[in-house]
Amino acid sequence: AKKAVLGPLVGAVDQGTSSTRFLVFNSKTAELLSHHQVEIKQEFPREGWVEQDPKEILQSVYECIEKTCEKLGQLNIDISNIKAIGVSNQRETTVVWDKLTGEPLYNAVVWLDLRTQSTVENLSKRIPGNNNFVKSKTGLPLSTYFSAVKLRWLLDNVRKVQRAVEEDRALFGTIDSWLIWSLTGGANGGVHCTDVTNASRTMLFNIHSLEWDKELCEFFEIPMKILPNVRSSSEIYGLMKISHSLKAGALEGVPISGCLGDQSAALVGQMCFQDGQAKNTYGTGCFLLCNTGRKCVFSEHGLLTTVAYKLGRDKPVYYALEGSVAIAGAVIRWLRDNLGIIQTSEEIEKLAKEVGTSYGCYFVPAFSGLYAPYWEPSARGIICGLTQFTNKCHIAFAALEAVCFQTREILDAMNRDCGIPLSHLQVDGGMTNNKILMQLQADILYIPVVKPSMPETTALGAAMAAGAAEGVGVWSLEPEDLSAVTMERFEPQINAEESEIRYSTWKKAVMKSVGWVT
Ligand code: ADP
Repeated sequence: AKKAVLGPLVGAVDQGTSSTRFLVFNSKTAELLSHHQVEIKQEFPREGWVEQDPKEILQSVYECIEKTCEKLGQLNIDISNIKAIGVSNQRETTVVWDKLTGEPLYNAVVWLDLRTQSTVENLSKRIPGNNNFVKSKTGLPLSTYFSAVKLRWLLDNVRKVQRAVEEDRALFGTIDSWLIWSLTGGANGGVHCTDVTNASRTMLFNIHSLEWDKELCEFFEIPMKILPNVRSSSEIYGLMKISHSLKAGALEGVPISGCLGDQSAALVGQMCFQDGQAKNTYGTGCFLLCNTGRKCVFSEHGLLTTVAYKLGRDKPVYYALEGSVAIAGAVIRWLRDNLGIIQTSEEIEKLAKEVGTSYGCYFVPAFSGLYAPYWEPSARGIICGLTQFTNKCHIAFAALEAVCFQTREILDAMNRDCGIPLSHLQVDGGMTNNKILMQLQADILYIPVVKPSMPETTALGAAMAAGAAEGVGVWSLEPEDLSAVTMERFEPQINAEESEIRYSTWKKAVMKSVGWVT
């Protein structure tokens, strides 16, 4: 059959905590042409530990690329039209590998992992109260969440890592670096780089000067030689190289030219380019980012300051305020995998619908402590308000409601920091397929919730960055090219008073979850 003629195409790897996807977009219309998705295993070797296998992650990327290319072939679309590839990734998750063999030296320590709690406590004592240089340089509170402490743990506890550092064979990276290095040749000339958005989540990166910070590296005792080069979010980093794992060498020689941490990618994919525009992504966790333009705004209410994007070597850097919630979709996965009350994540909607209320049951899923706005490592999950009447449907409902309440807390913090309350909330992510969740969210925020009909905004953002890069130039970031996105809207349906009562009871439940571990 004759292959369909199309404009230039752009591919995007979206490597999340739950799954990996590869998606191909038409650069002229932003239309999603084909994609493939593979779920990723999470290992919990001890209480509070969360690991993933970096090789499984890499393999899943190869598999998604292969399968997507096959599907494009079935659609008569010629894969040689793919002119660039972007990468977006789960942030903070830490990998150390051997540059001579390409082998990871330990599992990836996932952002949710709590093993570094005592490391964090010890380090906190060394930060002067009147000069929190970590916060002022990185925009982040000292927490188990960020890469520097995870890397510190690996250097302290894993002999293979220590030896590789001594022998100058070790490379550190977040998932973006691990993937780009591997996809551009690995041990045979792979490019060791990251972008400013991912770097801004390591706690080693100065978000003002946009460089690795010597003082921070000394504070965390991290050898700077193992850190990747920091680049903008949109430029050619290297070319795809044939790998024995990538059959037929699909996409050989295609430039990798976009890289954004998943939350930044979603901000770009939702076209939040103006000061004050925000989006909330519901995946494993929940992340509300508000573009603050070229200003680095510091929160008074528990939000992070982070690099939003820098779309080109000579382009300015944009910043964002971020409210991070550790557990959102993860609580649904927990109900599936640990309690077995559902077989698939989608089933949660059916259970919740059966009752339409939590019947006074509140579920605070503080599995990894509480992130924004509390930053309370001592919190642990609780389900409270149970009676003889409570059944699994109420618990399912309470789990969905918890995601909405947590979002309400970060939105309140965001409104207080920014001064101008958001008039509506732009949303995306795997959980937004759940209509009950979206309606509950509108009810609990008491503003409309707006969802683009093409939900893969994270991948879209990475594709846009890749397609717009200098030397690629197949995607224009001018606003007129980005219109015509259709939206689904959810309007608040309960009265404000009812919404407030539920919210204040939630806060009572949160207080009960705090201080559980000491
Ligand atoms: P990530 O980017 O973190 O990998 P995704 O955006 O792919 O996450 O979303 C996956 C998460 O969303 C999983 O934790 C899953 O349990 C949850 N999820 C997926 N579909 C639904 C649904 N219909 N209702 C509730 N949760 C869902």
